[in-house]
Amino acid sequence: MQDTYVFYQGKIVKESEVQISIRSKAFNYGLGCFEGIRAYWDEEAQQLYVFRLKEHFERLQESCKALYMNLPYTVEELCQWTVELLRKNNFKTTVYIRPVAFKGSDHLFPTLFDDDNRVLIYCQPMGKFAGKDAFRAAISSWRRISDTMLPPRTKATAAYLNSALASLEALQNGYDEAILLTKDGYVCEGPGENIFLVKKGKLVTPSPADDILEGITRDTVMTLAKEELGMEVVERSVGRTELYSAQEVFFSGTAMEVTAVVEVDNRKIADGQSGEVCKKIKELFFDVALGKNPKYAHYCTPVYEK
Ligand code: PMP
Repeated sequence: MQDTYVFYQGKIVKESEVQISIRSKAFNYGLGCFEGIRAYWDEEAQQLYVFRLKEHFERLQESCKALYMNLPYTVEELCQWTVELLRKNNFKTTVYIRPVAFKGSDHLFPTLFDDDNRVLIYCQPMGKFAGKDAFRAAISSWRRISDTMLPPRTKATAAYLNSALASLEALQNGYDEAILLTKDGYVCEGPGENIFLVKKGKLVTPSPADDILEGITRDTVMTLAKEELGMEVVERSVGRTELYSAQEVFFSGTAMEVTAVVEVDNRKIADGQSGEVCKKIKELFFDVALGKNPKYAHYCTPVYEK
């Protein structure tokens, strides 16, 4: 990996200059939370657009609140630092941005009761998730964390062990991705993405009460389906076998973008090809993310001054 510029402790510095203690609570216990943001490179316009930047930092702030951490910067300051960091790195490609808010203290025990809350932001080029256009998925034997165990609607670092175990199992069993059920057995989401079904022409997705992370891409998909495709969107609990009989299944997420799920538990979804709704939403999504749809210009933060 190149020695990129990163944001750490209020400054932009080279990644190789950052030192974080091996004793930190973040390293030892995963005490912290993070975000994943994409910035899309428009070759034609020679412009980089950060997608829904403010909403990501608002969610980071909500994650911090749930973890009893005070973010040392405002959402506006974090948005400005991110734009400055991207400029400093002079990226001319699609980029993944990773802000991390964490407990830097090296006090031995995993207490959240201290004020050593640090913010690190780093970024790197990122293409298509896993290089794939369609995914074969399987229901995981690991259940998604519930709100009575770890707050699932935050991007708490420690919670990603649950995601990692589910992904590991899926890959070891020859699938591309896992689908986790809630503790009550309803469909929840993928390890790092939300899930949608097309059923009788309606777009269906698990509701926030079913322990999902309320994805920013999910919100974008629901908006585009309603506004641009005139579809009815239903947020409700979804049974496992509803996936098998769905007209379409697809994932949404910052890294995953909008990608078809063509098989679940070795059952083909419809004809086993990427469906029409997924294709249309994907097209609309990229148009919006690349700043080409004026109606959604407020979703895009341009990085370079023109
Ligand atoms: N669920 C989980 C568990 C995730 O980690 C992510 C990725 N942030 C998502 C859903 C999708 O959220 P978003 O669209 O905001 O990236």
